[in-house]
Amino acid sequence: MHPQPYIGRFAPTPSGHLHFGSLLAALASYLDARSHAGSWLLRVEDLDQPRCVPGATDHILRTLEAYGMVWDGEVIRQNQRVALYQQVIDNWLDSGLAYYCDCSRQHIAKHGGVYPGTCRNRHLPFAHTHAVRVQAPQHEICFTDRLQGYFGQRLAAEVGDFVVKRRDGVIAYQLAVVIDDIAQGVTDIVRGADLIDSTPRQLWLYQLLKSEPPRYLHIPLVMRQQGEKLSKRLASPPIDTSMAPATLFKAIAALAQEPPADLRNAPVGEQLAWASNNWSPERLPAALQLLESTLPQA
Ligand SMILES: [Zn+2]
Repeated sequence: MHPQPYIGRFAPTPSGHLHFGSLLAALASYLDARSHAGSWLLRVEDLDQPRCVPGATDHILRTLEAYGMVWDGEVIRQNQRVALYQQVIDNWLDSGLAYYCDCSRQHIAKHGGVYPGTCRNRHLPFAHTHAVRVQAPQHEICFTDRLQGYFGQRLAAEVGDFVVKRRDGVIAYQLAVVIDDIAQGVTDIVRGADLIDSTPRQLWLYQLLKSEPPRYLHIPLVMRQQGEKLSKRLASPPIDTSMAPATLFKAIAALAQEPPADLRNAPVGEQLAWASNNWSPERLPAALQLLESTLPQA
């Protein structure tokens, strides 16, 4: 019996430049893929056009190249796949698994953020301003994360029927990511722990699409200080491509891989080769968040 070939991916949103936090996510998924002799795909999650910054996709691709993280195959752009996502939504609308909803944020906020199923039996017709929700299951959806361990959620009680198409017409991240990961045969997802809460919703969509879910590894999120994530919004500095070797060494150390000091000034290719050969994700702290100040200062 041949083991299933490993297929991993990195899926950035081009809403700004790559910052140190997103470099860590890219690096962890790259190292995990290469250490399994797997492929590493690149997908641009550009569905939310108003949030996308012109030139950001190019900047992200050039930065990954400067850091030696070369992806396999064509870059997929979600914005070119909308018809495919819509087809799945239409099937679910036809079968009654999904329905239109015109509820306001305020209405949902009144129910503690859990959608109370208000529109489930209203049979609203299509309208450009209606969201589409998919029915959530009553039973618990759980999985075992490679680092975080057991994680479960009762979607009906904790989230409610959730949005697969937003009121502004944008396909929801939850749906697009699952359809693409299935289409690309992704076996392993390595990403930031800020997404662990959305994993049970995605696992439910895998079930509805009758597909085998991938394995998950959610790496801790680097916080500037308690409660303050490194992000584009908070203007974390873009990572510098002229200092790629020094920054890459710092990133490998931040992933708790303990690179030898003499690797510090080595070319990026040599650093990546060492890091994939020695990749030990179990060394990562099983926390959802890490403070920037506690990372090794390389
Ligand atoms: Zn509603």
